Amino acid sequence: MEWFYKNKRDFIWRRTKDPYRIWISEIMLQQTRASQGQTYYKKFIGIFPDLQTLALANQDKVLKLWQGLGYYSRAINLHSTARYLYNEYDGKFPKTFNEIINLKGIGDYTASAIASICFDIPEAVVDGNVYRFLSRFFGISIPINTSNAHREFKKKATELMDFNNPGDFNQAIMEFGSIQCKPKNPLCLKCPFNDNCVAYKNQKIDLFPVKKKNSKLKKRYFNYFVFQNGEKKTIVEKRNENDIWKNLFQFPLLELPKLNYKKDELLNQIRLKYNHKIKFENLQLWNSKPIIQKLSHQKLHIFFWIINLKKWNTKNWTTVDDLKKLPIPIALQNFIDNFYN
Ligand code: SF4
Repeated sequence: MEWFYKNKRDFIWRRTKDPYRIWISEIMLQQTRASQGQTYYKKFIGIFPDLQTLALANQDKVLKLWQGLGYYSRAINLHSTARYLYNEYDGKFPKTFNEIINLKGIGDYTASAIASICFDIPEAVVDGNVYRFLSRFFGISIPINTSNAHREFKKKATELMDFNNPGDFNQAIMEFGSIQCKPKNPLCLKCPFNDNCVAYKNQKIDLFPVKKKNSKLKKRYFNYFVFQNGEKKTIVEKRNENDIWKNLFQFPLLELPKLNYKKDELLNQIRLKYNHKIKFENLQLWNSKPIIQKLSHQKLHIFFWIINLKKWNTKNWTTVDDLKKLPIPIALQNFIDNFYN
């Protein structure tokens, strides 16, 4: 903690103990670098400064602000929990660990962070930084992506915790892992723990934390159809299935089981998808190489097909200006910015 008080970064969420704001920052920072997260956080808090404004907001607006952070279910859960607290808790954040951890979208890590930072409850946090620091320092070789790892590391962190100041302790251990005991090139030479660090003494820093090899990434092939009717309008639809990008908008999609489809095969697939109701003039592939997006367990190969329509009497046409206001996966947003610039 001495190290923390001297070296901590001055993040905006470190200047508050308001559980609403700590909650937003903790959810936002999962899977996101703190420096990038800060920009999103400021914008989000600027528009939704308290629980009530978030609870009363429209979901599309919440998702639009989340655009680019990925893991959109976090934003959906955040919004639904804000509504729940607004309706059931009189808009106030609960103050016990058990109540907090029972909220939708809040797991052990976030509940521990909120409970310790805002209410001085001694619950140790375990995130990637804590896994890395503790596994190196103690030489713990339990793979961190296995089921009992969390319990063991939480126990260890709790043994070390300063019970008089659990909030600062938790922030200190995470900050230490983030900027001192970094994933690559940790600053061991000037580390206050280097005398006793198992990984350092045995020159095994790169071997910790131990991870069990994951099964292969699932490959998926997305073909998006960008319909054009000559009036700067196109067609989008909302993703409703329980899948990635739930509740975001996209162009009509055909997901296919393999990478390379011949144009004719694809035309048949499109005709089938729309029961032969549409007539188009031509179909052009916008990107000859797939745009690759890697998610935690999936690798997406994305193609955009531009289709000029002769006629299609559908009410689903959206103007490009309206399209830009919708929450959209970042790979599609990049396409839109390029294509409609
Ligand atoms: S000596 Fe190196 S590996 Fe060990 S705790 Fe310090 S920074 Fe991490």
